[in-house]
Amino acid sequence: MTEEVVDNEIKESENENENIVVSYKDVKKAFGDTVVLNDLSLNVAQGEKVALIGPSGSGKTTIIRMLMTLEQPTEGTIEVDGEMLWHKEVNGELLPADEKHMRKVRGKIGMVFQQYNLFPHMTIMRNCTTAPVNVLGISKDEAKTRAQEMLDKVGLGDKVDNYPSQLSGGQQQRVAIARSLVMQPKVMLFDEVTAALDPELVGEVLEVLKDIAAEGDTTMMLITHEMEFARDVADRVLFLDNGKIAEHGPPSEVIENPQTERLQAFLGRFN
Ligand code: ADP
Repeated sequence: MTEEVVDNEIKESENENENIVVSYKDVKKAFGDTVVLNDLSLNVAQGEKVALIGPSGSGKTTIIRMLMTLEQPTEGTIEVDGEMLWHKEVNGELLPADEKHMRKVRGKIGMVFQQYNLFPHMTIMRNCTTAPVNVLGISKDEAKTRAQEMLDKVGLGDKVDNYPSQLSGGQQQRVAIARSLVMQPKVMLFDEVTAALDPELVGEVLEVLKDIAAEGDTTMMLITHEMEFARDVADRVLFLDNGKIAEHGPPSEVIENPQTERLQAFLGRFN
């Protein structure tokens, strides 16, 4: 008993110093005069699973697109694995980052979208090995070994010689997940990965994501409208409303015991 308590204390103190993989500091994003995100500060720790929920237009995708370098913050900074996106610090001064720096930081990020965007003319194996060989510069053999491992993980290890059109939408999305994992990114972003799927294919993709999450070491940020999934997978849930994090905490608080009327109303739609 005593040992257990000590163990927990150690774990807690470790958590305070845990590795921060993603850090948004005082980020604001405006399109013209329209401010879509305000004062966003957020740290995501190594291995943490963060679910972003909220009504359409609340800013969830913008948060993720800024991390993907598809949008630049109007104010504030974003760091991935200790390196700033968009900026480089030189002698205490923030200078615009060059393309080489951006590519390096972008390489730490994996993303899976609604549309799986596999290359139709390549086999499943080649879909998974092209980027690691061309971008990471690893050997074809090494890439194949990694790809086979990840395809096994998503339950498609026997489809390596098939083409995307021979797979169902759910299977293609699982390949897209495997393809991202082969790159061994520091953080994986999932933007409504089941939204474009037929309802009967949603479950298999969510199961794969749950398995990956359960392994523990992959840092994940997920935008989802699947509340049960968010509750099962996330360590932390952020409720975005009007460009702000309106509520945040473990799923047992945010999803099961929402405090604000806005969140109660939002969650009510899923019951
Ligand atoms: P969510 O993902 O929560 O649905 P988004 O991040 O996509 O929300 O959008 C937040 C707000 O930003 C919305 O009002 C949207 O219309 C606006 N927005 C997003 N991208 C652009 C853009 N490129 N130009 C103008 N407005 C945009």
